[in-house]
Amino acid sequence: MRRWYTPRVFLSVDFTPVPDPSRVTESESAPGEVVRRAAELRDAINEANYEYYIKSAPGLTDAEYDALLNELRDLEAQYPGIKTPDSPTQKVGAPPSDEFAEVVHPVPMLSLGNVFDEHGLRAWYSRTLDHAELDEASMVCELKIDGLAIAVTYRNGILEQAATRGDGVRGEDVTPNVRTIRSVPLRLSGDDVPPLIEVRGEVYFPNSAFEQFNAEREANGLPTYANPRNSASGSLRQLDSSETARRPLAMFCYSIGYSEGGATPDSQWEVLQAMRRWGLPVNPWTRHCDSIEQVLAAVQAAVEERDGLDYGIDGLVVKLDSIALQDSLGSVGRDPRWATAFKFPAEQARTRINAIHVNVGRTGNLTPWAELEPVNVGGVTVRRATLHNRDEIRRKDFRAGDSVIIQRAGDVIPQVVQVADDNVRDSSSRPFEFPETCPACDEPTLETEEDASVRCVNAACPAQFERLLEHFASRGAMDIEGLGERVAQDLARNGIVQRLSDLYTLRGREDELAELEGMGEKKIDNLLEGIDRSKEQPLSRLLFALGIIGVGSEAGEWLARHFRTLERLQSASVDDLLEVDGVGPVTAQTVHEWMSLPANQEMLQQLTAAGLTVEDDSPEPPQDHPIRGLTFVVTGTLESMSRSGAESRIKALGAKASGSVSKKTAYLVAGANAGSKLQKAQDLGVPILDEAAFLQFLDGNAPAETAPS
Ligand code: NAD
Repeated sequence: MRRWYTPRVFLSVDFTPVPDPSRVTESESAPGEVVRRAAELRDAINEANYEYYIKSAPGLTDAEYDALLNELRDLEAQYPGIKTPDSPTQKVGAPPSDEFAEVVHPVPMLSLGNVFDEHGLRAWYSRTLDHAELDEASMVCELKIDGLAIAVTYRNGILEQAATRGDGVRGEDVTPNVRTIRSVPLRLSGDDVPPLIEVRGEVYFPNSAFEQFNAEREANGLPTYANPRNSASGSLRQLDSSETARRPLAMFCYSIGYSEGGATPDSQWEVLQAMRRWGLPVNPWTRHCDSIEQVLAAVQAAVEERDGLDYGIDGLVVKLDSIALQDSLGSVGRDPRWATAFKFPAEQARTRINAIHVNVGRTGNLTPWAELEPVNVGGVTVRRATLHNRDEIRRKDFRAGDSVIIQRAGDVIPQVVQVADDNVRDSSSRPFEFPETCPACDEPTLETEEDASVRCVNAACPAQFERLLEHFASRGAMDIEGLGERVAQDLARNGIVQRLSDLYTLRGREDELAELEGMGEKKIDNLLEGIDRSKEQPLSRLLFALGIIGVGSEAGEWLARHFRTLERLQSASVDDLLEVDGVGPVTAQTVHEWMSLPANQEMLQQLTAAGLTVEDDSPEPPQDHPIRGLTFVVTGTLESMSRSGAESRIKALGAKASGSVSKKTAYLVAGANAGSKLQKAQDLGVPILDEAAFLQFLDGNAPAETAPS
């Protein structure tokens, strides 16, 4: 067996004896205010970690996060007594979420130390050489892909398991999701692949697809991702792998974490070549360097090529080439000694807010944005940037006329970070007044404190309708080619389409279409054909396309599968809707209200008359299966199928699969390494099935002795 790193060294990170925090008193070490500040920082960083790693929706910018972490590091360096075993300075990432089965990494997955300039790089190199008692060492430079780390295990060349980094020691089992990534081979090729090998790499979301993906989410009333990194993380950590499959994730492999049997290369450079040979995706941009000067040249080259890449990078990773040297150097804290990340400076620039505007989204959400004095940020001219929401403007007090710092987050969406420290306001400067009426229709808006949203609730708002039309036609919905943003706008603004069903009356109205700018005969034909074809889309797509708040593509499928026909869904009560697996009280209420509105009923009637698919044709679950109607929770790792596979089988038989254990749970299906859900089921007296009993149940044999009363 060949271990690439020494786990003992890595694990010592978390087990370094440090004082019990409750016993750290002012007199022993730090002043009270330092102890309090450190506690405050720990809380803030832990919360940010949760938002970033688990929810994939950070509330802080990376720079704000790094500032908090650095402040805590400095305090702990100054007052070692305040360091707690659970301090975020001692940990990697965040513990795995309960939603996924847990995977214990055979060799922990760590972070990387950072350097920000030549001086830092040279200091790291000389420290490392001192430690190794060497005069020089060759290095490999790789791009630091801004995604999330994944460990993929192959047994006898076949993909067996994939896990997130989690807290470095325990990650989340995301095997079914990683299987959907096209660049990840399900089988390795070559006769020198070790019988058991875990490769590590970064899963990322290509920039080219990101903007469109976010636009679709926005159109569907779903929260948008701040950057491709967060959307990669959110996409990979979907509970439903078919949802992951819809997103164009990709992966680059950069190391071997663990292997058993067979020989593996003894340099990082050769590891990269070997992985390529085995069919794994390895980033083509790598440099072998024999001196720091060569590393600096590589940094320069990467900075210059950065904008041409279709993925975000936030630096370069510099690694000692010799694996033997890596092994002997081990790690310090959460970072290996033998590698460091040369972080690129954040792509920030200073400019002026010329005006603040507010957009109206499909669901009526009002989104503020800044019209900027055009400025170049990392080679791209930025004219507008998001201001996120009303609270962000209030919190940071952005005003028209302010000098501000903007940055391209994750290299794509520009955002306004803060008002410049030396900004000067004249007497005419006023805080931005968020509109009390909708900028498109002038109707009063509604504020929701909970998510800081302000929305226009006027169903007849023209801006909302344009977005709805775009959403209806979008790829994940009715997929109508030729009906993008521009055409949707023209059709709506010229009154040609006033409600969704009008789309299906356009045949015979070609002369009206020909009046629109840029609408030649060919375009009209394409559009009409696209509209005709959309009639074949399944009911689940139609339900999603209608743009009901809370009904994303997944809920569209649940509703279609449950009610089978549009008619039955239309007459469902809130209680009936609550029966649908995955539909909560808010969505149930919204769907019911939407379906009860006479204008919507009329429109659905027209869509039905136009010949759209209003029946679900997936196979009906058997009526007499003993699991029908019961609620299951699946936890841990099953041998014969993935968790989502088990949940699909449960649903296909007319039962429910829930994510959390409650008194309503009929059975908990517990695979290997079941965690807190098993404990909770035991506490609540919920019957527990092992995999064999579960499989028998699926075959129609109810488990007699554990059956619920
Ligand atoms: P990191 O991202 O700075 O570096 C370590 C990671 O780099 C590895 O785990 C690996 O996933 C990745 N990597 C990419 N390419 C690589 C390659 N070629 N070789 C090796 N590794 C490669 O460290 P981290 O601990 O993952 O994250 C910390 C950073 O995340 C912070 O500095 C901050 O920028 C960000 N963060 C932000 C928030 C927030 O609230 N905004 C919260 C938490 C973390």
